[in-house]
Amino acid sequence: CFVSFEGGDGAGKSTQRNLLGAWLTGLGHDVVLTREPGGTPLGQVLRDAVLHGEDLDPRTEALLYATDRAHHVHRLVRPALARGAVVVTDRYLDSSVAYQGAARDLGDGEIRDLSLWATRGLLPDLTVLLDLDPAVGAGRRTAAPDRLERESLEFHTRVREHFLALAAQEPARFLVLDATAAPEELHAAVRTRLRPLLPA
Ligand code: C5P
Repeated sequence: CFVSFEGGDGAGKSTQRNLLGAWLTGLGHDVVLTREPGGTPLGQVLRDAVLHGEDLDPRTEALLYATDRAHHVHRLVRPALARGAVVVTDRYLDSSVAYQGAARDLGDGEIRDLSLWATRGLLPDLTVLLDLDPAVGAGRRTAAPDRLERESLEFHTRVREHFLALAAQEPARFLVLDATAAPEELHAAVRTRLRPLLPA
């Protein structure tokens, strides 16, 4: 079973991923918590390149995310799924479609195809979109901003709108939650939606 959390910066994706991981572990599942970019040692190098690199054009950026994803799926996600683990990732291909495809204007169909090529077509069983006004998300951030976080509010608004459009296109895969709700409340909604998808 493969679950992704998506949403803008400061939406609480890693908090929800960790709460879900603890619940799944308590149920006795083999659980792998991971993230993109940077879920593998090579991915850490790519993450550093894409977040702190100088003068990256949108295509270079898109290919760096796609490389990270290809390796992540090959090295970590598929082997874990093959042994029956539940894999929970903080970001996956919908982030690329929203950020590089829509906000950077590379075309969402092309970026989706690139990701599907990179991953040999691996889609999550469930994608939880934590929807948040980017102005609120910006206020929640603590660490020094990276290259992407310095983007305009307009950029992050395009990302948000595209995430919502993706969720509307694939309602069977997506669960959309209002990220201003309390973490425990969000976690309960995720559990309810995920329970029937879990292996016995
Ligand atoms: O969520 P996380 O902090 O790991 O993401 C790192 C940065 O990369 C964020 O600022 C996010 O907006 C950006 N990002 C992106 N395109 C992706 C994935 C993340 O621009 N495909």
